[in-house]
Amino acid sequence: MITPNHIPAHLSPDVGPWPDELWSKELAGAARDVKTLLNAVQVHPQNLQYPADTSAKFQLLVPRGFIARMRKGDADDPLLKQVLPTLEERKASNEFTRDPLAETDPAQGFMKTPSLLQKYQGRVLLITTPGCAINCRYCFRREFPYTQHRPKGHQEALASIAADPSIDEVILSGGDPLLLSDKQLSQLLNAIESIPHIQRIRIHSRIPIVLPERITRGLMDALERCRCQMVLVAHTNHPQELNDATARALACLKHSQITLLNQSVLLRGINADVTTLAELSKKLFAQGVLPYYLHLTDHVAGTEHFFIGDDEAREIYAQLQRLLPGYLLPKLVREQPGQASKTLMY
Ligand SMILES: *Cc1c(COP(=O)(O)O)cnc(C)c1O
Ligand code: SF4
Repeated sequence: MITPNHIPAHLSPDVGPWPDELWSKELAGAARDVKTLLNAVQVHPQNLQYPADTSAKFQLLVPRGFIARMRKGDADDPLLKQVLPTLEERKASNEFTRDPLAETDPAQGFMKTPSLLQKYQGRVLLITTPGCAINCRYCFRREFPYTQHRPKGHQEALASIAADPSIDEVILSGGDPLLLSDKQLSQLLNAIESIPHIQRIRIHSRIPIVLPERITRGLMDALERCRCQMVLVAHTNHPQELNDATARALACLKHSQITLLNQSVLLRGINADVTTLAELSKKLFAQGVLPYYLHLTDHVAGTEHFFIGDDEAREIYAQLQRLLPGYLLPKLVREQPGQASKTLMY
């Protein structure tokens, strides 16, 4: 086969997936405290604008490969700021609460079973595992009571999906569903695809970006075997997160016939400018991924310093639209309680 010469060598599927054993070692070697992270990125604590929080309840977790993409010695690095806990998170404000969406409030009726959430018509969200391969400081699930929703198998959730023919899509979420082993994931996919009315399975995962070594032959096999159409929504906020390793991971997934989309979160001090966002869209597309959503953050306690208001967001977005072809423009959305979908903000 002739490889068209506009495809960079690292995008060729010939480079292929990573060996099976590597990713769990990479994850075991991830930075889990402030000192290790700051040492690795060669940032002196005194150079931080806000002091690091060495006892944050939402624990620091960053794989080494992600740290390697940070600029050494730069306290203002956009990747570092996504993962370093600082005292800014302790800002208390009435407006920013632990569970602003009240997703788990039984009175709302969103929880169909302890691990199954349905807010929107036709699609359900399955909480597969509480953990992630990275802990993002802006995460809206940082206060999510996972221990109450830790699935002991998904029998109840699967039975609920099987009983409702109006559902044609299952979203695997978490946490990060790609933290499941190949075997666990295979079993789950098998169980879902055996429900006849399910057409699509969607995986929401930051792992192809933050732990690309997770993309193994075994994972590709599990995804390729599935009867349903597969969609993976990756999560990238800044063009600097994308490198040869992410290109390789995404090329493998694409080779497995998976539709690749990306969601980003609009974050003050990280990507809330038109130049960064335009570059992100173009670089994602160069790696085979289409922009899907650009989320406005919710009022989650501890994330106020990242927050961008609606008017400012709309202004950035209007500029972005002028710079990009329509297919590279993500949809600007916010999650509003009581709505039947995400709310388009433009
Ligand atoms: C965001 C979300 C979805 C997916 O919404 P899409 O607009 O289809 O991407 C589904 N369920 C829940 C609970 C969500 O929060
Ligand atoms: S990977 Fe996603 S779910 Fe996990 S901490 Fe980051 S934003 Fe939250």
